[in-house]
Amino acid sequence: MDPKVDSNFGTEIILLAEQLAGHSDDPEALTLAYLTRAHQTAGAEIAGSMIEAGMQVRIDAVGNVIGRYAAADPQAPILITGSHFDTVRHGGRFDGRLGILTPLVVARHLHQRGERLPFHLDVVAFAEEEGLRFRSAFLASSALVGQFDFALLDHKDADGITMREAMCAAGLPGTEEAIAACAVNPRRLLGYIEVHIEQGPVLLERGLPVGVVTSIAGNVRKRVTVSGLASHAGTTPMAMRRDALAAASEMVLAVERRCGDPRYAAQALVGTVGMAAVPQGAANVVPGRCEFSLDVRAADDATRDAAVTDLDAEFARIAERRGVELSVSQTMRVPCAACSPPLMDRLAGSIDAAGLPVLRLASGAGHDAMVMARVTDVCMLFVRCGNGGISHNPAETMTAEDADIAARVLLDFLRRTAADLG
Ligand SMILES: [Zn+2]
Repeated sequence: MDPKVDSNFGTEIILLAEQLAGHSDDPEALTLAYLTRAHQTAGAEIAGSMIEAGMQVRIDAVGNVIGRYAAADPQAPILITGSHFDTVRHGGRFDGRLGILTPLVVARHLHQRGERLPFHLDVVAFAEEEGLRFRSAFLASSALVGQFDFALLDHKDADGITMREAMCAAGLPGTEEAIAACAVNPRRLLGYIEVHIEQGPVLLERGLPVGVVTSIAGNVRKRVTVSGLASHAGTTPMAMRRDALAAASEMVLAVERRCGDPRYAAQALVGTVGMAAVPQGAANVVPGRCEFSLDVRAADDATRDAAVTDLDAEFARIAERRGVELSVSQTMRVPCAACSPPLMDRLAGSIDAAGLPVLRLASGAGHDAMVMARVTDVCMLFVRCGNGGISHNPAETMTAEDADIAARVLLDFLRRTAADLG
């Protein structure tokens, strides 16, 4: 640990997170959707803190707040760090924000010491990651990697406001040209590092404040429709039924069995049926139709795809045996993003230097790093999540001590990156 580090980063981070949580669309619980009034004031507050920390700040065409702790040489390469400041409905104050506030206090510390880095440190407060307002996630990081889907500009929110209108109302250009200009030049990048609250219980259970993320799980999502025969609940003998819900129930249990197989636990395989419905169902009718969703994730694409293939076959067997029809369509397919081994090793070195054991773990949740990985090397530092690991919930919490450790590890990582450049 650097003896010259005397700031209490953790206390500062917790305080900044509390202040930022004051900007909310909903007075009851923290909700911050893309480009609402509260979202804009939150962005302005982040910009103000960045300026105080000695950074040059700009807001790009999708509303990302980008603070640069500049190197002396304008042509220096760029290391990007950051995360998102929008939230889910009734979210937590650290999800995303920790990855903005941690580098912010670290940059302030460097600035106060007059310590320059041989690369530009760009802290990006991503304006949108959760997909709350326009039902499409990762808008901000997509723009940064030059892969923004312009068709989204005409998508409407629940009030009928298009994304383009929302952008213009927020003082952004709302044009394809301006959004295309958000793209970074990958040739100038040293990589991307994201600090994020774990949003799960692994570090908590291991008694560790931080961990190195190995990969970010991409998911396959499907919509499954089972069609049987709706018939009278009183007069159809059990043996003659073609019950769509009973068949679907077997399929749900097959998901749990296949994805819960302990042989795949190390690959972080998980499968979830999060929605199920019996359209036009009634208490006195044998279900004729059942629709459900399937979401499968793992640390690598091969493990996930093998599970999906097995489930397709198992669903077909169940349908055949029960005499129901099956229709399956894939609605989403996001590849897993592997973290860069050299960056992971550097991060592990910083954790080790802090006197802590290094735990490597996969991320089951998607993060901005997953999108950034399309153009540059990425790594992530997970920070212990309190309260049993609950997140996307107002009960999400972390300690100032853990935030402090995360900041010190990040500071060390930046210095190691500087040393590697020299
Ligand atoms: Zn997040």
